Amino acid sequence: MTPDEFRRAGRALIDWIADYRSRMESFPVMSQVKPGEIRARFPAEPPQEGAPLEELLGPLERDVLPGITHWNHPRFFAYFPSNGSLAGVLADLAAAGLGAQCMSWQTSPAGTELEEVVLDWLRRMVALPDDFTGVIQDTASSATLVALLCARERTTHFSQARGGLCEETAPLAVYASDQAHSSVEKAALLAGFGRAHVRAVASDEANAMRADALEQAIAADAARGVRPCAVVATVGSTATTAMDPLPAIAEVARRAGAWLHVDAAMAGTAMILPECRPLWQGVEAADSLVFNPHKWMGTGFDCSAYYARDPQHLVRVMSTNPSYLRTAHEGEVKNFRDWGIPLGRRFRALKLWFLLHEQGVKGLQARIRRDLENARWLAGQVDAAPDWRRMAPVPLQTVCLRHLPPDISEDVDAHNLEIARRVNASGAAYVTPAVVKGVQLIRVSIGAEGTVRSHVEQVWAALQQAART
Ligand code: PLP
Repeated sequence: MTPDEFRRAGRALIDWIADYRSRMESFPVMSQVKPGEIRARFPAEPPQEGAPLEELLGPLERDVLPGITHWNHPRFFAYFPSNGSLAGVLADLAAAGLGAQCMSWQTSPAGTELEEVVLDWLRRMVALPDDFTGVIQDTASSATLVALLCARERTTHFSQARGGLCEETAPLAVYASDQAHSSVEKAALLAGFGRAHVRAVASDEANAMRADALEQAIAADAARGVRPCAVVATVGSTATTAMDPLPAIAEVARRAGAWLHVDAAMAGTAMILPECRPLWQGVEAADSLVFNPHKWMGTGFDCSAYYARDPQHLVRVMSTNPSYLRTAHEGEVKNFRDWGIPLGRRFRALKLWFLLHEQGVKGLQARIRRDLENARWLAGQVDAAPDWRRMAPVPLQTVCLRHLPPDISEDVDAHNLEIARRVNASGAAYVTPAVVKGVQLIRVSIGAEGTVRSHVEQVWAALQQAART
């Protein structure tokens, strides 16, 4: 493709994306296709001859779009939002156009230095202390794995330089609440701790980790010769946005000599609002922290901000230094290849830069406040509705609810699962059912970029309608 052909095809594609975004509300939120339906639209054999790219716009519309669940739809209330702002779309285009591989400072100095700048902006925006240093990881899952690897190496005084965990005499344990995201357990397993040493610490009635239960679990382990290695505290749990009590947890972790990692994947964005910061009071005691600008903030997937208190330790754990990767300026600059697992790195800092330039901190703050207000409104509606129960506090933007009419004869869990299924199948909105402590509930997670009050009213009406029928 020549640059001129690219110009033509690119303009057509940008127009298509702009049209898609403007008619998004006309689509069912959740894709309605059956398994295999999209695949069946494509030939088994690849094209033998090349053809102009513009020819793909038709099939993109006809064959791909039906298989898309519209995460940027204003009636998307499932999971947590993954907002792909149009500024982020353009940033991804710029990154692909520049085609830079930002593994080391030298392989594209702007990639490294802009990442330092925007992560420092972000740190200031959420008021993290000056001694946290940031790096972009692809996802919170990877970031938590990095944190647990760092914890493992700190506790074992660099077992990786000897026989690894295989030769450690005493096992190491990781602690997280029974409401922590599955990525924590996955990271612990991948980091070699073993399922037998991953503790699900009991949570309280607000679904937050109980610091006394953490202390007991650590003491029980210590009595059996198991070393406490890492505590993962969740600020904004996935099911209910529960907030683990950081000051008490940090104190228990400190006394046990354990690493404290904070998973604020969703809630981190809320901390750009000063009024939300009490929710993560005590965060300054963490050894590491992750939050996802690719969720609520809107950079577009994938962009996860990882902050480390001791970046030198991170580099010691992650760094490999074969001759072919050595560059001038070693020691003088950051080589982000040594700050995470992959060697190759895209120019993701552009997404934060573009988004922050276009929205400004104030623009983002206004949107987050709008979502918090909408969640409070919905919580009020649920509280006032006689046949509905709100199942958890609403510190952020997720409202957990359950239909509980007094005269119900069928199984209440099945009834609520069916309500969610009906709403999703209708295409009117997309919500996620979840089971918390054995109880089936429906999560309404507000925060898509385009969601305003009328959309929240619509999902509430759709839930009530589904419950009636
Ligand atoms: N942690 C929490 C609290 C989450 O809610 C999620 C996903 O929703 C994750 C971690 C995993 O995020 P990622 O997809 O970036 O790995």
